[in-house]
Amino acid sequence: MPLLVMKFGGTSVADLDRIANAAAKVKREVERGYDVIVIVSAMSGKTNELVGWVEGTSPLYDAREYDAVVASGENVTAGLMALRLQEMGISARSWQGWQVPINTTSAHGSARFVSIPRANIDAKFAEGFKVAVVAGFQGISVEGRITTLGRGGSDTTAVAFAAAFGAERCDIYTDVDGVYTTDPRISSKARKLDKIAFEEMLELASLGAKVLQTRSVELAMRYNVRLRVLSSFEDTDENSGTLVCGEDEIMESKVVSGVAYSRDEAKITLFTIEDRPGVAQAIFGPLSEAGVNVDMIVQNISEKDYDEAHPGAVTDMTFSCPINQVARAQKALEDAVAAGKIKYDELIIDTEVAKVSVVGIGMRSQVGVAARSFAALAAEGINIKVISTSEIKISVLIDRKYMELAVQALHDAFELEKTA
Ligand code: ASP
Ligand code: MG
Repeated sequence: MPLLVMKFGGTSVADLDRIANAAAKVKREVERGYDVIVIVSAMSGKTNELVGWVEGTSPLYDAREYDAVVASGENVTAGLMALRLQEMGISARSWQGWQVPINTTSAHGSARFVSIPRANIDAKFAEGFKVAVVAGFQGISVEGRITTLGRGGSDTTAVAFAAAFGAERCDIYTDVDGVYTTDPRISSKARKLDKIAFEEMLELASLGAKVLQTRSVELAMRYNVRLRVLSSFEDTDENSGTLVCGEDEIMESKVVSGVAYSRDEAKITLFTIEDRPGVAQAIFGPLSEAGVNVDMIVQNISEKDYDEAHPGAVTDMTFSCPINQVARAQKALEDAVAAGKIKYDELIIDTEVAKVSVVGIGMRSQVGVAARSFAALAAEGINIKVISTSEIKISVLIDRKYMELAVQALHDAFELEKTA
């Protein structure tokens, strides 16, 4: 039997009516001849409530009990979905992570998959069951404790099942109808993409287009799982939504596929640091130990090249990180100064910046993307504070107050409202 994985997010299973609506979509695929593995999230808002209960009980909670509590939201929706399918005459049963079993590492709250043995679920399909409803976001450690995968983890559960069971496709049903060229709330010209490459989606996901958990896209790329993002609130067919797939499946590729943004960024500059081997390590080592997610890094050109004859050479170092990590970063740097590991004249912190990025696999083979981007920003009088690039991405840090304008200007400059 061909097999499909269908994942329903929190808003798609938010109440009994919506569960019934999702179940009807599952039934349709069963009628088309598929065996289906359904992965469910908790009802929307439920996981936040459970996290709140844990924190309200024990501020420095035992992470194993956190997982035991927080995983329960998915157990409820898995059981309800199985019941609803049974009411519709479909043979279905629910599976909690440990029953499959979904084996994970013991990193509670951010566990990773170790293995998903197929035997138990395959045996049920062989008995004639048509649907396995699996609780997303959870698993079991070697110690036999319940684990969770990190927020948004049900997407990753879905992809892992699609890989393990060789699914024809992994359909992610959500509250948007696909992946857009940019956030439609920012640009009214945003257009839904029919297809997007894994690499592009990875950049867009990690840059703040919050459709899919980043890890799910990484996993899909590694195992070549065709992922489709589509709405659970609309009538859908096999052409609905956006297909996230390998580059070989994408015929027409524009140079730029999308414009992403991240609003809550901060820029930190260490003004006048020594220019000598080991300085970058002395700065970023403590930041990494403090759990600061450093993103862009720029080191100024030195006054003069370092050489043993000029031990007094100086330079400046700038990096960006999420705004809510600034306090941690500052403390790590000040501690490093106190410990004599680094010195600087001044620490300049700018918490009024945002990051805007243009993404596209077409950049690999086309020149002029950077020039066109910078021209579009210049035309709007937007000053660029930091630039970083990769093979398929150009990112700039700008004043946050210009973020929307920058997104619109870049979207226009690459004519993303038009299909290729
Ligand atoms: N329910 C979990 C969360 O809210 C996992 C998920 O929905 O993907 O993060
Ligand atoms: Mg989600």
